[in-house]
Amino acid sequence: MDSCIFCSEPETEIVAENDLARAFYDKYPVNEGHVLIVPKRHVETLFEATLEELDAINRLLFKVKDKLDKKFNPDGYNVGVNVGRAAGQTIFHLHYHVIPRYLGDVKDPRGGIRKIKKSVIPYLAEGEEN
Ligand SMILES: [Zn+2]
Ligand SMILES: [Zn+2]
Repeated sequence: MDSCIFCSEPETEIVAENDLARAFYDKYPVNEGHVLIVPKRHVETLFEATLEELDAINRLLFKVKDKLDKKFNPDGYNVGVNVGRAAGQTIFHLHYHVIPRYLGDVKDPRGGIRKIKKSVIPYLAEGEEN
């Protein structure tokens, strides 16, 4: 599937990689240090992934967390996956959002990802799921 942006080399810096998955900075970050983790195989949603791919993604999640901790020193994280159009998925290649959170980045953080997806930091281009 050559029209899929996650099937080609990411346009942003790769944060971590293993045999089945890679992690890179989101081109349209909703917060400082926003990373996406994707399987290398074109897998549309979470539920089409193999357990091996999910394991590979989870391993990267820990590596990404270590790196982001060192680089950005966040106070927390939102980790999330949207599955299906009704859930807000707009790019149909499975991806985990790893979004560092900082105390005070929104007035009231209760509600988690539902609030941050309104975008904490401004960005120029239209991303997804906003
Ligand atoms: Zn793809
Ligand atoms: Zn997404």
